[in-house]
Amino acid sequence: MSALPARREAPAAPAGAGFDVAAVRAQFPILSTTVHGRPLVYLDSAASAQKPRAVIDALARFYERDYANIHRGVYELSQRASALHDVARRKVQRFLGAADWREIVFVRNATEAVNLVAQSFLAPRLGPGDEILVTEMEHHANIVPWQLVAARTGAKVVAAPIDDTGELDLEALAERIGPRTRMLGVVWVSNVLGTVNPVEEIVALARRRGVPVLIDAAQAVQHLAVDVRALDADFLVFSGHKVYGPSGVGVLWGRLEHLSAMPPWQGGGDMIERVAFEGTSFAEPPFRFEAGTPDIAGIHALGVALDWLEGLGLEAVAAHEAALLARAEDALARIPGLRLLGAPKRRASLLSFTLEGVHAHDLGTLLDLEGIAVRTGHHCAMPLHARLGVSASARASFAAYTSVEEIDALARALRRIAESWR
Ligand code: PMP
Repeated sequence: MSALPARREAPAAPAGAGFDVAAVRAQFPILSTTVHGRPLVYLDSAASAQKPRAVIDALARFYERDYANIHRGVYELSQRASALHDVARRKVQRFLGAADWREIVFVRNATEAVNLVAQSFLAPRLGPGDEILVTEMEHHANIVPWQLVAARTGAKVVAAPIDDTGELDLEALAERIGPRTRMLGVVWVSNVLGTVNPVEEIVALARRRGVPVLIDAAQAVQHLAVDVRALDADFLVFSGHKVYGPSGVGVLWGRLEHLSAMPPWQGGGDMIERVAFEGTSFAEPPFRFEAGTPDIAGIHALGVALDWLEGLGLEAVAAHEAALLARAEDALARIPGLRLLGAPKRRASLLSFTLEGVHAHDLGTLLDLEGIAVRTGHHCAMPLHARLGVSASARASFAAYTSVEEIDALARALRRIAESWR
């Protein structure tokens, strides 16, 4: 494996200032397209972020110049592709602050990473009556994979409650950790409420009771700096497509001691040491968990996306998004009949809401006619919507390329709809 690529240093920027959003937007070709004859106002970055030119070009260049299957050929091209693959893994290692490149497993997405942990790490440890603790604000990706292994083993999934502001009730969470708790799965940033959970505190709480923790960082890594060594969790998952990278690539970070002890979860090429009909031995992590040909170009482009984000500076992006969020919260709260879901103390880059008298899907369609793309429905968090007492909501989510003008366009459109539909 090649040496760890140097972290790209970003120029320090004071909060909210010095961030040239026009220059950032210019790097996203899709942002200059139109929808229904109107300029696209893309406010669904929490579902998937748009891609900068650097990532689009990296994909094209890789296919044009460097593409071959990896870890197989002795020929130059395959070795070049393999070297780029190794570099991408090192970039993810650096991005997460992981101690060892072997802790980085490439998967398809955050969902697949949770399934891997549920099946390979947890299932062998589960028995009847055991519990997997999650929270009421989880995405289905951090509920259903646990339910599948629970159903097979006689264990059950239980949820720690949230309060009416959309914060986790940490005392109740601590009480739910009992002698039968075998795993805690917790989301870092809620994809519906935007709540930023105090994951360090939660991990410490669980570790004191000897309970392993998986952090769903699908909505976190694009907004907050991650240092898995400081976090001290057992597993962390994210998807490349939400962090300006291509779709089809995700990451599982796991402690090496866990990964080394875990059995494979899928069999095939590339994950073996030696195969014979009498028996097969398996490769060391991470390869043990990477059966078959991966998304070679996509993984390379994910590394480029992380470079791109680090080049912009996560802190500068976070400050820009915080300013957008404050403006949106203020403007939306003043729209008659509009209810913002939750009011957490710390929120990251998204807002969900309902509008009295207008179904969320209708709202989505009306906004779309104005070129404004928001997410509508239950956002893959049905238990959370049930807890909030709504069946569906609309969600606007922001990224590095979101402009103040787009927030204002959303607020204006919502006000018009609120006034004409009441
Ligand atoms: N967790 C959270 C909090 C999410 O928002 C999402 C995506 N909406 C996921 C997990 C799953 O991500 P993916 O569909 O990329 O696997």
